[in-house]
Amino acid sequence: MNHFTYRGNELFAEEVPVREIAGEVGTPLYIYSHATLTRHYNVFDGALSDIDHLVCYSVKANSNIAVLRTLAKLGSGFDIVSGGELYRVLLAGGDPHKVVFSGVGKSDDEIEFALENDILMFNVESEEELEVIDQIAGKLGKKAPVSFRINPDVDPKTHPYISTGLSKNKFGIPSDYALEIYEKALKLKNIEVVGIDAHIGSQLTQVSPFIEAMEKLLRLIEKIEKLGVSIKYFDIGGGLGIRYRDENPPHPEEYASEIKKLLGDRKIKMIFEPGRVIVGNAGIFVTKVLYTKKTPLKNFIIVDGAMNDLIRPALYGAHHEISPVVLDQKRGKIIADIVGPICESDDFFAREREIEKVGRGDFLAIFSAGAYGFSMASNYNSRPRVAEVMVKGSEYAIIRQRETYPELVWNEKIPSFLR
Ligand SMILES: *Cc1c(COP(=O)(O)O)cnc(C)c1O
Repeated sequence: MNHFTYRGNELFAEEVPVREIAGEVGTPLYIYSHATLTRHYNVFDGALSDIDHLVCYSVKANSNIAVLRTLAKLGSGFDIVSGGELYRVLLAGGDPHKVVFSGVGKSDDEIEFALENDILMFNVESEEELEVIDQIAGKLGKKAPVSFRINPDVDPKTHPYISTGLSKNKFGIPSDYALEIYEKALKLKNIEVVGIDAHIGSQLTQVSPFIEAMEKLLRLIEKIEKLGVSIKYFDIGGGLGIRYRDENPPHPEEYASEIKKLLGDRKIKMIFEPGRVIVGNAGIFVTKVLYTKKTPLKNFIIVDGAMNDLIRPALYGAHHEISPVVLDQKRGKIIADIVGPICESDDFFAREREIEKVGRGDFLAIFSAGAYGFSMASNYNSRPRVAEVMVKGSEYAIIRQRETYPELVWNEKIPSFLR
C-alpha cells in the first residue's frame, strides 16, 4: 500500500496534487511519501515483533538524508556499504551502534572511519579483509566486532545482476571455508567475533531461498559455536521484493512467520537489511513530455527524464508502471516507447507501452521509483541531477535541490599548463 493515488483524474502524493509539486519544483524530480516510508518500516519491523531483532535499512537503496532521518526517528539501524553512507547516516542522526558495514571491498580509510564511530559490526567477506581490520583496529587500540558473510550457494531466482548468493558470485566466504576463517579470527587480538551474515540477492519474490540460506547458516552456527564462540547476531541481509507490475512477493508477515518457525526458541538476535521493500513504492519519478514523434515503425514519447536519473529500465530491463499525472480518457490510447534525451538506445523507461495519448508539457509519473532510483543517478550527458521532494500530509519540502550548471563543474579544474 502506498500514498500515491488518483482522486478523480488527478494523481496525489498524500494530500498534495503531484501536478502542483511538479509545476513548482520543475521536472524531472523524485517525490517520496513520508507516510508510505513510515508505514513500510512499521509493517516490516512490526511483523518481526516476536523475534529479537534489529532492522538495518540498506542505505544504498535511497540515501537521501531526509529519508535516513525519517527511518532513524522510527528506530531503524542502517546497513552501509561505504564510508560515504556512514557519513550520511551520522549526519541524519542515525545511531552508529546500529550500523552494520557490508561489502566486498572496504578501503582502509572506510574501516578506520567505521571503527572510530563504534559501529555494531563489520560483515567481513574475505580473509585478507579480516587481517586488515585486525591491523587497523590494533593501531586505533580498538577491538573490531565482526561477522562473516557466508555465501550459502542458494539461487534467489531473481535478475542475475542482483543475485549475490551463488557460488559463482564475488560475494561472501564459501561455506566450506567458514569454520577455518572463524578459527582464524578467534586467534586475532583485535577482533571480536559476534555474528554470521548472508545476503543472497535483491527483489526476491519467494520466501524459500531465504529459508534455504538460513537453514544452511543455522547448521554452520552449531559448528562454529563448538569452537567456543557465541554467535550473537544472525544477519540474513535484505532482498525482499516488491510489486512493480504483477509480482506477488511475500508480505513481511509471511516472511517473518517462516523465519519464526525456523528459529523456534533459539536465542539469537536477528538482523535484517531491507532496502527496496521499505522505499521502493514510497517514491515516484515525475517527468515531462518534451516531444512526441511517429516513425513508420513506432510512436515515441520523448520526456525530460533519462537513464542517468533512473537507470533501472536500461540496466535490468526493469518494468515501471507509468501514467499521466492528470488523466484524460477522452484522448484515447496509443502504444509508444517512452524515452529520454540521452544518446544511447537503451535510454528508455518503457517500450511498446499502452498509454494515454499525451502531448508536449504533460507530466508522467513513473511509479515504484523510490529504491535504486536517485541513488544510482549520475551526471551522464552533463545532466544536472534532479530534485527530490518529500511529502508529509499536506506539506512538502525539497530535500535535494536540483543541481545547477556551476555545480556540475564546481570541482573540476583547468591545469596551469593549459592556460
Ligand atoms: C543491497 C543490499 C541490501 C538491500 O537489498 P534490498 O533488495 O534492497 O532489500 C542488503 N544487504 C546488502 C549487503 C546489500 O548489498
